[in-house]
Amino acid sequence: MAERFYVNSELKPGLVVLQGAEAHHLSVVCRLRPGDAICLFNGDGRQYPARIEEASRRSATLDVFAVESPARELAFRLEVAAPLPRGDRAQFLLEKLTELGVTSFVPLQTARSVVHPRETKLDKLQRHVIEASKQCGRNVLLHVRPMVEWSAFCRSAELPERRLLGHPGGESKRKETAERDTVVAVGPEGGFTDEEVALARAAGWRLLDLGPRILRVETAAIALAVLLG
Ligand code: SAH
Repeated sequence: MAERFYVNSELKPGLVVLQGAEAHHLSVVCRLRPGDAICLFNGDGRQYPARIEEASRRSATLDVFAVESPARELAFRLEVAAPLPRGDRAQFLLEKLTELGVTSFVPLQTARSVVHPRETKLDKLQRHVIEASKQCGRNVLLHVRPMVEWSAFCRSAELPERRLLGHPGGESKRKETAERDTVVAVGPEGGFTDEEVALARAAGWRLLDLGPRILRVETAAIALAVLLG
């Protein structure tokens, strides 16, 4: 697969100029030169094969010569909600959820959560999504939503009908099938409080057991995305 580059603007056949970090990445990191083929994407579901016309460390001129729409998305909506794990584990989580085709990620604030990301941090998470999309060939970006409190989120009117909460001792995971709009959620390292679980059950969430070991937040979230994706 040709090296992929993300641009935050409309794309169509013809010349397009890359600037800033992406131009630096193209000419300095990837050492690409005029005549080399690359592929551009902007999250609109399509990808745009292009040839390099000019490349310097500050800017690159590309000639888009085709528009393609490969089928790389899930045929249904899969939302994952979880408190953000710390540091590198948050990056790992976003990377894997992107690769698995998850539609959106919702950072949760719960009674026992410890990380309180600011807006800037969410930008950084979206950056991890872009990097993972370059690598895995995804042309629609996983959407990182603003942080929301569990008590509000679990009762939100916009949730898909199937709502599954990872919970040791819940129902067997073997009965669940993919191919349906679904939202899955996991709690913080300290677990959901009894009140938080009760609130979810009252709002139509079912509890799902993922096996006899306690998983970390990111492992549980990824396991649910694999199971339902
Ligand atoms: N200290 C908590 C565990 C928290 S693990 C306790 O002892 O219950 C973080 C989250 O991952 C949990 O809230 C749950 O949503 C999910 N999780 C971890 N292990 C799981 C398992 N075996 N089955 C289902 N969900 C699990």
